[in-house]
Amino acid sequence: MTTVKELFDEKVRLPSPPAIALKILEAVRQEDNSFEDLAQIIMSDPSLAIRVLTVANSSLYGLSQPVTSLSQATGLIGTDALKNIALSFVIVQEFQNPSQGSFDLEYFWRRSVTTAVAADVLGNAVKHNDQDLFVSGLLQDIGILILFLSLPEDYTTVLDGKRVSGENLCTAEKKQFSCDHTEIASYLLTTWNLPESIREPIRNSHSPQEAKELHKKSATILECADKISAIYHGLHSTSKAKDVRTALDINWGFSAEKVDELIDIIGDRSREILDLFAIDPGKIKPFSLIMQEANEELGALNLSYEQIVMELKQAKQNSEQLARELQLANLNLKKLAYRDGLTGLYNKRYFHKVFTTEMERSLRYKLPLTLLLLDIDFFKDVNDTYGHPVGDKVLVIVSNILLRLVRNSDIVARYGGEEFTVILPETGTKGATVLAQRLRRGIAQEQLISGDQTFSVTVSIGLAGTNLVQKDLHPDTLIECSDQALYKAKQNGRNRVEQFII
Ligand code: GH3
Ligand code: MG
Ligand code: MG
Repeated sequence: MTTVKELFDEKVRLPSPPAIALKILEAVRQEDNSFEDLAQIIMSDPSLAIRVLTVANSSLYGLSQPVTSLSQATGLIGTDALKNIALSFVIVQEFQNPSQGSFDLEYFWRRSVTTAVAADVLGNAVKHNDQDLFVSGLLQDIGILILFLSLPEDYTTVLDGKRVSGENLCTAEKKQFSCDHTEIASYLLTTWNLPESIREPIRNSHSPQEAKELHKKSATILECADKISAIYHGLHSTSKAKDVRTALDINWGFSAEKVDELIDIIGDRSREILDLFAIDPGKIKPFSLIMQEANEELGALNLSYEQIVMELKQAKQNSEQLARELQLANLNLKKLAYRDGLTGLYNKRYFHKVFTTEMERSLRYKLPLTLLLLDIDFFKDVNDTYGHPVGDKVLVIVSNILLRLVRNSDIVARYGGEEFTVILPETGTKGATVLAQRLRRGIAQEQLISGDQTFSVTVSIGLAGTNLVQKDLHPDTLIECSDQALYKAKQNGRNRVEQFII
């Protein structure tokens, strides 16, 4: 089996640490005069100095009076904190180069900064004195970044496979690379000479029980921080929120109210800190609003939920061995099997797999789910008038519009020729209708060009949600319902959205 080192030697491009980061670390490693050295390094980059001071004045430190100099900042928040703020800026800046292929760096850092803020807030809430939590949170997923940048195709395969199988990311990565992103991060940060207090919690951020005693608490905090960040930036916010409540209750006996309050604080602070990092905060909205929108009865967690999770884990473990063998054999096949060659969207095969998973999740967590079926109107005429190659281009453009207008958690697939599907998890009919209209308008408004002619296309959309139909719903039923709704949209004049009504 390949070791992490071999992987690095053979395939993975290992970035060197930013020079200024090295200087910062060096300065604080020397016992004497560390503050003077640190201050000098920071002040050598005026924009860095300004940003460090801004963070010192942010709600992260809750100082009662404004801080105007680095020495004043050290006095109030300590050299360690100052070092960590500076380090964070330097590293994020280093990896903000836009020429990083298809990797969504802005999303990556948005997610990581929120994890960092969550780790910091959580550390304070549980009175755990670890000054490095912010940096550890920030770098927790750096292994993902490195893997993706070095082996983009392999990593896309991992992500596609993970989504279908529902297995966790580390397991999926191990199958593909024989190590996961926490090992990669740990290896990288060792070569960067970062201290164990940062490396060890990151290494065990998905398995805190395996961390050295000294770092167990920090690793647990990182694990929870990652989950909290996922509420704001990942898929399935509502079920993630349930996981966070369970985790914080088990680890620290937090009440559900306390957890919700912390999550809200983390959302607010993330917005503030992301702004300082010049990262678009994306769609961070108050947690309370997320909950309200999910229209969910979020009473205290009940036992049955935990039981379900346990059962699921058990079942997964049993099937893991078999899946591993199978997956290995199918890996290359899958690479081609999940994506549509023309548009790059997920294909029908993938759609069916992931739709089944999403339907199960929807029923299990009692969350709504809505399916959209889109069909381009009179597409045959486009081919006949402008030619098949232009038709192909139109399909690509429509695909890109769909991807641009849906949310992170929505899944867009090419269902067939000029038909597309969008799965909207945790979305009821009302929200789905708003989104469907947005997609319809977005496509109709796009000006298309063929030679010196301009034209546009429209789509008809059929919509069917789990809340419209009976429980114990089979995925095929919802597809049929959306198809009937689409038929109605065509009948009623096209370029419109119709929903299935019993
Ligand atoms: P309606 O509004 O009723 O949906 O009319 P339509 O013309 O869109 O429907 P119809 O199903 O009659 O035609 C679909 C057309 O889509 C016919 C087919 O040639 C074209 N098509 C399917 N796949 C592709 C493709 O990959 N590229 C191109 N250029 N055209 C495609
Ligand atoms: Mg059609
Ligand atoms: Mg059509």
